[in-house]
Amino acid sequence: MPHPPCPNNGIAIALASVLGDDKVAHPGSPAYQNSVASYYSVQQATIRPACVVFPRTATLTKEGPSIAFGVRSGGHTGWAGASNIAGGVTLDLTGLNDIEVTQEGTIVRVGTGATWDAMYQKLHPLGRTVAGGRVAGVGAGGLTLGGGISHLSPQRGWKCDTVLNFQVVLSDGQVVNANADENADLFFALRGGGGNFGIIEKEARALGAYDPFVFLSYAMPDQNPIASYGEENVRRLVAVRDRVDPAGMFTKQVPGRHKIHNA
Ligand SMILES: Cc1cc2nc3c(=O)[nH]c(=O)nc-3n(C[C@H](O)[C@H](O)[C@H](O)COP(=O)(O)OP(=O)(O)OC[C@H]3O[C@@H](n4cnc5c(N)ncnc54)[C@H](O)[C@@H]3O)c2cc1C
Repeated sequence: MPHPPCPNNGIAIALASVLGDDKVAHPGSPAYQNSVASYYSVQQATIRPACVVFPRTATLTKEGPSIAFGVRSGGHTGWAGASNIAGGVTLDLTGLNDIEVTQEGTIVRVGTGATWDAMYQKLHPLGRTVAGGRVAGVGAGGLTLGGGISHLSPQRGWKCDTVLNFQVVLSDGQVVNANADENADLFFALRGGGGNFGIIEKEARALGAYDPFVFLSYAMPDQNPIASYGEENVRRLVAVRDRVDPAGMFTKQVPGRHKIHNA
């Protein structure tokens, strides 16, 4: 479907002259169309930015003009304008998607645009996992900034709590680290405080041992999500079930994957 003409083409031209044509996609170009069409929700996919910028480095905020911009990692947030912007500049960070595991296998460094399914696929053969998103396509950046509920959260906490360090671009273009020792206030804020403080480029997070439930959204029939809650939590659930439904009517007669008797 042809895109409606964009009134703000001047922005795209100005940015391309600073950043290079390969990093700025104009309306109607394949890169622009692919980016806009790849949002999870129709509400976001129908928004038309003046251009889409694909940063590879942290220079954009330093050199870009003062205009409104949207920031997008996985693009999974549903509401219109969450990570896209009508007539402004959309920063599409999906290209910042490196996933690098340290030699000891205890830490993963991940670009903000990496998706959780890509992360699990990388970690699975290494026998490692992390508390991450529950659905393919959700991005590392957005999920962390919102706190992040994982299938492994009952055992390992919020997704943002496994982060050890953020590499962040601030409004003045500085690239800083935020962790427990350095910029600790920013570290606190980024773990659930949303996109109010800067642009995350990269996160380092602690890994745990492989858990067979990381692929829950595409679970094999023999997997049971309840088991991912951990033995102690399962014991508590079973105790409640035994008290309120001793015959196990709801666990046995109602089909589904979240079943205690499989855990
Ligand atoms: C099908 C589906 C399943 C979901 N499952 C889960 C789930 O299991 N657990 C859970 O907790 N949530 C879940 N969510 C909600 C989801 O976590 C949030 O929508 C999350 O923000 C998506 O992250 P994203 O990177 O894909 O989103 P985006 O839409 O790209 O970004 C979300 C927000 O973060 C900002 N942002 C993104 N990247 C950056 C960055 N690098 N720096 C600064 N700001 C940035 C954006 O501007 C936007 O405001 C789900 C949503 C959907 C639609």
